[in-house]
Amino acid sequence: MIDFKQLAQEYKTPLYIYDLDYMSAQYTELKDAFKARKSILCYAVKANSNLSVVRHFAKMGSGADCVSIGEVRRAFLAGIPAYKIIFSGVGKSDDEIREAIEKDILYINLESEAELGRVELIAKELKAKARISIRVNPNIDPQTHPYISTGLHDNKFGVDLNSAKRMYIKANNSDNLDPVGIHFHIGSQLTELKPIYESAEIVADLVRSLQNIKIELKFFDVGGGLGVKYDNESLIPTYDYAQAILATLKGLDLTVICEPGRFLTANAGYFVSKVLYEKQNGEKKFVVIDGAMNDLLRPSLYKAYHKIEAITDSESEERAVDIVGPVCESGDFFAKDYLLPELKHNDLVVVHSAGAYGFGMGSNYNTRGRSAEVAVEDGKARLIRKRETFDDLIALEKEFLD
Ligand SMILES: *Cc1c(COP(=O)(O)O)cnc(C)c1O
Repeated sequence: MIDFKQLAQEYKTPLYIYDLDYMSAQYTELKDAFKARKSILCYAVKANSNLSVVRHFAKMGSGADCVSIGEVRRAFLAGIPAYKIIFSGVGKSDDEIREAIEKDILYINLESEAELGRVELIAKELKAKARISIRVNPNIDPQTHPYISTGLHDNKFGVDLNSAKRMYIKANNSDNLDPVGIHFHIGSQLTELKPIYESAEIVADLVRSLQNIKIELKFFDVGGGLGVKYDNESLIPTYDYAQAILATLKGLDLTVICEPGRFLTANAGYFVSKVLYEKQNGEKKFVVIDGAMNDLLRPSLYKAYHKIEAITDSESEERAVDIVGPVCESGDFFAKDYLLPELKHNDLVVVHSAGAYGFGMGSNYNTRGRSAEVAVEDGKARLIRKRETFDDLIALEKEFLD
């Protein structure tokens, strides 16, 4: 059990708290589900990119799926070996591509024919042979929130099957490209197995048709996307998930790569905030807390549901309230019409499931410093990121003040 009161007192609020033991348990569960084959879990760094969190996964043997060169550098700093680092993303700059090739990471995930051309050119300049994978868009509806769906042709991600095949042939004939993998990632917070299975089948068939023309891949990268419980979602059991994927690989000798983000960290994280005051506008009741949308954007951005727990000695009846932050936007809320008892100044409000796409989506909007981050491991808490100060926020501007 995490002692929110004690941690809030020690580290102040707003505060992110991560249960590293929970992250380990999730990692082990998913890794075990794939044990019938060679597999690498490449943690999707964007879900929670704190160096100590990435380091924690590095120690467990994890690789990293990165979507910017900044994330690649984080992965290296955290001790993830080059041969377990993947660089994905729909728009990589020349500098990013150059650095990824120089760092000799496992592979660069290509998302367009134009990008293949850039990578080939840059690898040629460097007199290198860049390992690549191609992200295939299987055009399957993942049945998740449209903002986090990525596997339909309407989405900007990946390339269609015909383009992918053409790209593999081109890469295979190039002196500067080495096609080693194939990738798909159809969306996030997936709770249905069928779209994953169907996508894997389509992509595995493409691997077979490439084999027929003597293009032999080594890595079958199934992306991330495994859903978690925010509310009362029914989840895909990890064993079923792995089995469905492995079933599509009959006769193929490939290492499976899986890129979980949310699954590993979401429910390991808590966002702890203090009640400033309550207020009432007409019939509507509000609880104003010291955390805001600049700390945790998901409710504002996706209307995402997060379970909220009040830590109080209040014994009043629960009533429906909107839980809002101090930022000057009507969209600055954590929950609407949520049942909580009457709260007093300095009571705590704990937002659950805040370990993925929480801190990392934060900003300094309204000149608010980002929260501190604390890790809890083996019952012990430690600071893993300092609270940002006003001086931090103006550091890059103040020299220009005339
Ligand atoms: C975001 C992302 C992931 C991780 O997604 P989750 O839903 O957090 O598991 C994995 N792979 C790629 C390419 C991504 O863009």
